[in-house]
Amino acid sequence: MSLAAKPPVTEEEIDAFRAGVRGEVILPTDEGYDEARTVWNATIDRHPALVVRCAGTSDVISAVAFAKERDLPISVKGGGHNIAGRAVEDDALMIDLSPMRSVRVDPDARTARVEPGVVLSELDHETQAFGLATPVGYNSTTGVAGLTLGGGFGWLSRRYGMTVDNLVSADVVTAAGELVHASETENEDLFWGLRGGGGNFGIVTSFEFQLHEVGPTVLSGPIVHPFEDAASVLSEYREFAADAPEDAAVWFVIRHAPPLPFIPEEWHGRKVLILAAFYAGEMSEGEEVLRPLREIGDPIADAVGPHPYAGWQQAFDGLAPAGARNYWKSHNFVEFTDGMIETFVEYGERIPSEGTEIACAQLGGAINDVPVDATAYPHRDARFTMNLHTQWEDPGQDEACIAWARDMHEAMTPHATGGVYANFVPEAVGDQQAAYRENYDRLVEVKNAWDPENLFRLNHNVEPSR
Ligand SMILES: Cc1cc2nc3c(=O)[nH]c(=O)nc-3n(C[C@H](O)[C@H](O)[C@H](O)COP(=O)(O)OP(=O)(O)OC[C@H]3O[C@@H](n4cnc5c(N)ncnc54)[C@H](O)[C@@H]3O)c2cc1C
Repeated sequence: MSLAAKPPVTEEEIDAFRAGVRGEVILPTDEGYDEARTVWNATIDRHPALVVRCAGTSDVISAVAFAKERDLPISVKGGGHNIAGRAVEDDALMIDLSPMRSVRVDPDARTARVEPGVVLSELDHETQAFGLATPVGYNSTTGVAGLTLGGGFGWLSRRYGMTVDNLVSADVVTAAGELVHASETENEDLFWGLRGGGGNFGIVTSFEFQLHEVGPTVLSGPIVHPFEDAASVLSEYREFAADAPEDAAVWFVIRHAPPLPFIPEEWHGRKVLILAAFYAGEMSEGEEVLRPLREIGDPIADAVGPHPYAGWQQAFDGLAPAGARNYWKSHNFVEFTDGMIETFVEYGERIPSEGTEIACAQLGGAINDVPVDATAYPHRDARFTMNLHTQWEDPGQDEACIAWARDMHEAMTPHATGGVYANFVPEAVGDQQAAYRENYDRLVEVKNAWDPENLFRLNHNVEPSR
């Protein structure tokens, strides 16, 4: 038997490789192949030559060596949530890290060591046992690995910065097939690049994070308004957001109301504007801070109250299920202009499917206190990030949904910074300058030093210059 790779990989070579790894090697003819190649976004349907489900760092080193020997492109899978589906590629060797799922918390040092297959809910579960957390995203099945390497933000970021601002060190398998440690004092250039430069420089087999006291109960919840009131609610939201302390983060979403118990039944399926509010600090302080937000307009529902932090981190999972078709477009903003509000409303009127959301997260705060050149993640000016979560089921709707997202994105361009979060870019190639901005040239230097042959290119790629 031979595989689709060039030169062909023989059965004997596969057997020898399989014998040398602790995890599983899955071929197209094996049971489980389709499950192994499936990622979150259903528009991605690619067929790797083989999948290696790594049990540990040794397997990662073996897989890198095998791919180099056999001249197979390498794709790397953490949580498989990347919108462009970079974890899987036709005819490539897919290094699947999802079996590597341990989290070791040191409550005294307030750090956690995290393997690269861990998803956000697992990290939160382990750290919250000690009333600790680090900022990660709002959807709990997202992989810690890809999220961190692109930058990472969530409800705690206005208070404690991006996920990368809380990365203390990492273990990395390099293109040379060696395991190195990267931190502020060791392989500093690599450590800089890992904090926002994606999977360009090697395969991270362990992340060490700084943790903070959070919860375990936090003030949080959604406030639901009729879409008809969106313009006036958003202009009052803008006033609130301008003066909000770093402990407060309020995001908003325009979408069809999901059938959730706190939303009156007659509103299910109708268009709404949801303000999602979170306060990282003391509950009583949060009540005061969020009061003016809760007094805006005439809401249909207000479910702000004390909630377990780990539960709040999963509250929106049902709105972004694995296996739907998805296309995203994103912009960052410094100002929240009248023109933006008009555009939110205009395109909110024409949302193309039941699952689609116009989502906007409030950034700023501690994220913006970090100098642009301190980490590879460059968007330190952004105070808001819009992500058009265009989501649908029927492939026949592909064209209409993608066109809506592109049109709205274009309409928002005059208001935006021109930068885009690398983890929100839907195309496999493109937007490199927008994603890495003023840090691009330095990323090329790091790439030249650590991966001059561009072995790790199935990511938001930084091409080496020599
Ligand atoms: C529903 C949903 C909600 C989201 N919400 C947020 C949010 O709130 N905040 C936020 O910041 N982002 C958010 N994201 C974006 C998310 O950060 C990216 O999709 C990210 O790429 C997911 O990482 P992953 O490990 O799941 O993805 P994967 O597809 O497995 O990997 C993504 C990229 O990282 C590379 N990679 C993965 N693991 C490693 C590793 N160990 N070493 C080297 N390279 C590696 C892969 O090759 C690939 O290029 C969200 C995504 C989804 C789908």
